[in-house]
Amino acid sequence: MLGTAADRTALARAFAHASAWLKGLDHRAVATTASLAELRMRLARPLAENGLDPSEVIDRLVADTEGGLLGSQTGRFFSWVIGGSLPSAMAADWLTTVWDQNAGIRACSPAASVVEEVAAGWLLDLFGLPPESSVGFVTGTQMAHVTCLAAARHAVLSDRGWDVERRGLSGSVPVRILVNIERHVSVDRAIRFLGLGSDSIVPLPVDEEGGILAEGLSKALADTSQPTIVVLQAGELNRAAFDDFQTLAPLAREAGAWTHVDGAFGLWARTSPVHAELAQGMELCDSWTTDAHKYLNVPYDSGLAFVRDAAAHRAAMTVSTSYLPQDGAARDQLDWNPEFSRRARGFAVYAALQELGRRGVAEMVERTSHHAQALVAGIGRLPGAQVVATSRLNQGLVRFLSPAPGATQDDHDRRTDAVIASINRSGEAFFGGVTFRGQRCMRISVCNWRTGDADVRRAIDAARAALA
Ligand SMILES: *Cc1c(COP(=O)(O)O)cnc(C)c1O
Repeated sequence: MLGTAADRTALARAFAHASAWLKGLDHRAVATTASLAELRMRLARPLAENGLDPSEVIDRLVADTEGGLLGSQTGRFFSWVIGGSLPSAMAADWLTTVWDQNAGIRACSPAASVVEEVAAGWLLDLFGLPPESSVGFVTGTQMAHVTCLAAARHAVLSDRGWDVERRGLSGSVPVRILVNIERHVSVDRAIRFLGLGSDSIVPLPVDEEGGILAEGLSKALADTSQPTIVVLQAGELNRAAFDDFQTLAPLAREAGAWTHVDGAFGLWARTSPVHAELAQGMELCDSWTTDAHKYLNVPYDSGLAFVRDAAAHRAAMTVSTSYLPQDGAARDQLDWNPEFSRRARGFAVYAALQELGRRGVAEMVERTSHHAQALVAGIGRLPGAQVVATSRLNQGLVRFLSPAPGATQDDHDRRTDAVIASINRSGEAFFGGVTFRGQRCMRISVCNWRTGDADVRRAIDAARAALA
């Protein structure tokens, strides 16, 4: 088969498989059921001399990956911070694939450019960030950090008369980066990618709640010999801790430092009147990152980079060459993104924001936070369980104590990992473990729009059964 008939048959097969997958979310095991050996046996065929019919390729792909896909699309997946996909976002993402636009510059897809322009405006407004900020639609918070910190690197070195884009880092004054000791590892990786080196990272002590201590920051900022970037966070990965932006951001600004925020999921707190207080003062910072594939529930991969100083953002990213028409009539994405050719990932973001509306975004944040708190409390009340941390957003930690007489911390750690494994094996719900301040804990994270009261009840029941 050639041309549109083959296209249509393959897509129709994909649609049938997709419908079956979505219908099965409530009864299929959340954990995977196939071993790596099984998956390799099915998938690692020798590459044949002759190709196959497209529909057959799709049928085989579905059959061979059976049991090897994690149920992160269900409402009973609470591990890591993953999120699901809204119907309009999934559908828009399919169309993005079918349209196959190269969203690198406006000339390759005017619609993709304008959709990003519009969605960027909606997002700045939704988050209450400075309206003059520029926005990059990247693959995730990891690359959003790279993008924002490249802008920061440009700005703090330019303040010292150093053009980093032209001269590179050799010979420049070393940049110093002050960070929360409980930050996400993607911050360090972005710093490495940018050639600033992990030795440039200065971790600052935090209070009991996980926020950087103002005295610690003031003391560090008193040394003005080096250009400085401060990285704060909105939503630390275990307890969704927030730095005190209102206090810290003005200190950094006064000292001439650039303040960047890791808001991978915590930035969304600003969309809800119930949770906005957690992130008060964040608008005083200079750059912000977040994910759309987590809280906004669009398919992977989708992250967002926001930069107050659009000129610094553009200086760090832009590139031009004679074969590309970049006329400035609309957004040329390569002015704001590290990629050259790229997926038109703005379509799914644009769709999700319209499906939810302002109220729907806020309501999703409120609902998932309510479910996370109910899970922490419900599991924490079970015999042998202990609440380690609750949060005012969507994360929490519990721990399971060994019933053995004279049990040690190590026994409790082992018991915690064993209970997590047992819940996951049941297929009823899926959680992850973490070592938090020296203790093994079960992490509870809710950011899937599908999670409902029934899912919470099933997960608590699964924990009860695992403890019995
Ligand atoms: C998920 C996460 C990241 C990394 O985001 P990616 O989208 O995976 O690149 C960074 N920081 C925090 C707090 C996160 O939760």
